[in-house]
Amino acid sequence: MKHIHKYRNVLGATAIVCAVAFVLVAAFFTNRGVPAFIDYGAFLEALGEGRVASVQLGDGANVRFSFTDSGEVYTTNNPRRADFKEQLLLAGVTVTESGTAGTDFIALGITVVLVAGVIFIIQRRNGAMTAKNALNPVSVNSDPNHKPCGFEDIAGNLEVKESVGDIIDYLREPERFARYGARMPRGILLHGKPGTGKTLMARAMAGEAGVPFYAVSGSDFVQMYVGVGAARVRELFKKAREEKRGVIFIDEIDALGKKRGDGVNVNDEREQTLNALLTEMQGFSENTGIVVVAATNRPDTLDEALLRPGRFDRRVEVGLPDINARKQILTLHAQNKPLAEGVDMDKLARDTVFFSGAMLEGLLNDAAINASRRGEGTLNEADISAAYYTALAGAEKKDRSAVRQHERAVTAWHESGHALAATLTNPENRVAKVTIIPSGAGAGGFCVNIPPERMYYTKQELEQQIMVNFAGRCAEEIHFGASNITTGASNDIEKATEAVLQYVTRYGFGTSILDRAKLEDKSAIAQECNALAERLYAQTRALLQKNYAALETLAAQLLEKETLDGEDVMNIVQNATET
Ligand code: ADP
Ligand code: ZN
Repeated sequence: MKHIHKYRNVLGATAIVCAVAFVLVAAFFTNRGVPAFIDYGAFLEALGEGRVASVQLGDGANVRFSFTDSGEVYTTNNPRRADFKEQLLLAGVTVTESGTAGTDFIALGITVVLVAGVIFIIQRRNGAMTAKNALNPVSVNSDPNHKPCGFEDIAGNLEVKESVGDIIDYLREPERFARYGARMPRGILLHGKPGTGKTLMARAMAGEAGVPFYAVSGSDFVQMYVGVGAARVRELFKKAREEKRGVIFIDEIDALGKKRGDGVNVNDEREQTLNALLTEMQGFSENTGIVVVAATNRPDTLDEALLRPGRFDRRVEVGLPDINARKQILTLHAQNKPLAEGVDMDKLARDTVFFSGAMLEGLLNDAAINASRRGEGTLNEADISAAYYTALAGAEKKDRSAVRQHERAVTAWHESGHALAATLTNPENRVAKVTIIPSGAGAGGFCVNIPPERMYYTKQELEQQIMVNFAGRCAEEIHFGASNITTGASNDIEKATEAVLQYVTRYGFGTSILDRAKLEDKSAIAQECNALAERLYAQTRALLQKNYAALETLAAQLLEKETLDGEDVMNIVQNATET
């Protein structure tokens, strides 16, 4: 943002210089006096009598001409006829075109000098700006607002920390990786909701590795003049290369790397900046010790060009914190605050479902402000709950929290259905994680179920996968009743439909061994698909009903803990099915 304001200043200065220039030029013309007007008929008459010496043609409403005898200059209507010039020439008149008449050379000269001067000034200021911006606010070490930080400043986000661990090792010692011929990703894309700590993570990567941190935001580039953004990108990389190592952080990369799409709203500047970025990344020699970290909360809108190998080829989701992580984030940010005896952080963690790390930090900060206003030395429960309700009201209406509780329950049962069906249908299915915390993709929650890795799947395994897809909706139906099922299953239904269709046609698992899609009319295929889906849905319902106790425990545990790992799921299912 800062940079844009600077550019506004330059623009302002330029506008003033231009205005002054125009006033000067206009004054120059005015001082020379405006020639008298003679009507066109009189002009033609003079022309016919050979009394016109010269005519100065132009685009204006009038043309200037001079008389042979007196040499005086007059104007008349500009006929704007294509053959006007020829007529004049044939009549032996000297014809000049606008701006080249001897008397206007001085005016022209002044204008040229002024315009050139203005352009020169703009370019110099831009150049200075470019270099300054690329070098100045971006290096964290020279920015007093940002002390270097490390992993200890990030609570939770364990998976993310884990998935950038190797990059940090690499940044510390690129030569070691080079010696073994290992190639590291040049770009990492962190995606997730705002305030989940993506910037913090990038900063911490640099901090952990002890390398410089350079940050820019994609949105800074959008309003720049063509060429300036690209120059800034090159400057930034040049700086990083000089230092040999570093983390280059590009926030809001979606502002730069939006899908190019239909050609509407093509933004040259964005395109050029993006190309410069890709070129620079491509230009890294292997193992330069520089890693580009980009962040976005709209990964779905990114240009594919950004995601190709050698670019941002590692993608890491930074999720909203679950109850455990929220407790840790709250504890971390409460460290420097004088909490009163008995403030219940567990309760606050429980009550802050869907809060991002930034919102939690903000909540505690508001509470601290409340406490300092009271001035009694500590931060108490009342300070926190006032801040909590302010935060809720900011996020959405308070009275929605009851609705939210119900939605959480629906999500918990839905995801428990998936997890239970995955565990029970095939012992080789591995449930890695099930959660009711929404992911960036917009789902209410999700269940990561990894089917056994195979070259081929059997007919039975395909049926099991379809059942797992159905199980979310099925659990909702069992617990909340057939008329209370929700739209939350749309993605599952899409997947199940695809799988059932493939089952009947492409794989020949149905009544025909042939690919029926190529042979038959659609209605017969649809009929068989429907019958298969009905059978598998009924099987899923029977399975979940038989293991209702396990389903219920899973849902209850999810409501309490929000996230369960594979082991938790396994234990719950085993305990509930044994008894
Ligand atoms: P993003 O880049 O994803 O929008 P930021 O990294 O800017 O989010 O996070 C903003 C602030 O929120 C951080 O400076 C920090 O105070 C707080 N925060 C977010 N996530 C965490 C976390 N996991 N641990 C501690 N603080 C966090
Ligand atoms: Zn589902």
